[in-house]
Parts: sequence; C-alpha cells; structure tokens
Amino acid sequence: MAITCICSKPVNPSAPNAPIWEEEYCSTYCREYDARGLEPIRGDIKTGLKQMSGIFYMPNIDIPCDYCGVEFPLTSARGAESNAQFCSRTCFLQVSNLNIQRSLVHYTMIKILLHNRKFRDGWLSVSQIDEVMCRSRNFKSNSRRISQFLRLWVSRGLLEKKVITARHTEFRISNVGINNPIAKVFVEMIPKKVIK
Ligand SMILES: [Zn+2]
Ligand SMILES: [Zn+2]
Repeated sequence: MAITCICSKPVNPSAPNAPIWEEEYCSTYCREYDARGLEPIRGDIKTGLKQMSGIFYMPNIDIPCDYCGVEFPLTSARGAESNAQFCSRTCFLQVSNLNIQRSLVHYTMIKILLHNRKFRDGWLSVSQIDEVMCRSRNFKSNSRRISQFLRLWVSRGLLEKKVITARHTEFRISNVGINNPIAKVFVEMIPKKVIK
C-alpha cells in the first residue's frame, strides 16, 4: 500500500536520493518540517515586497551535520538537497574515505539502526536490516555480511545486541551512538591506517 507524505508526494524509500530508512516521509526535510510544526513563509514577509504576499516559500530547516555537529540548512528542493546529512563535502568524505571496505555500506546500516532507535522501538533483526538495505541499488542482499557488520559494531560498542532465541538476535544503536554526531562516533571507532 502506497503511503503519501505530508507534502502529498508518495513515500518511496527506494527512490534515488531518498533515505532508504525513511518509511513515513518522502524526505528528511518533510520529517523535520512536520516534527517542528513549521509553516510556509508568506512571500511579502520573506522579501519585504507587498506584491509577493500571494506566494509562499518553504523555510530552510537547520539540522546538525552527522559528522561535525554544526547546523546547516536543509532545503525543500527535491532530491539530494532535502536529504543532506552532512554540512559539506569535507564532512561527507570523512565517512566515505575510511580505511574499511565499503564504508558507506557500513554507515548506511548504522543510519538504519539509528533511525529505528530514534523513531521506533530500536531493535532490529538481521532480516529486517537486510530488507531495508535491499532498497539500495548498491547493495545485494547478503545476511551473512550484515551479521559480520553487526558483530564488528557490537564489539566496538556502537551497537547493543539482545539474544531472543538461539536463532534470533536483535540489534540496536547504543547510547554512545544516539548522544553524539553519529558519523563522528563511527569514524573514531575505525582503527587509523598506520602512516609510514
Ligand atoms: Zn514529503
Ligand atoms: Zn559537518
């Protein structure tokens, strides 16, 4: 069943540039707009020109960068701009240039778990994570690889695990991950390359 966003666009987490973990809104922008109870800005107030009173603008929304924590404006423009997670390319490169294979796949999984901890009950099984990861064109379903990722991040303290039965374990982001800029915590937990 198709879900419609507050902006009346369809919610499609598999769309290019959409956050694959977002199942209730079309974009990060719309989630923040709704959560903060924002309203469109009337044109004459924004521009100071009386003749603009019939035009409405969607406000920019300041959100903290996933890496440096400094706030930057999220815009209502479609695509990547309404889903930005980093204030700058420099901050994005901190995550994508890491000394681990496919660091963005690791990071995406962490973001799925963070989203779930913030807006749902927090715990996810390997198959639930796999289902979300499969919305990305860059990821082929592989529960064994996901299990390896999860074990690594449990051992580093970014995730917690809960054993339900011998065949069923669930995972969630630890408090370290919800109380700090997530990309910064993630990057700092990766061992640094030895520089010769
Ligand atoms: Zn929307
Ligand atoms: Zn930043």
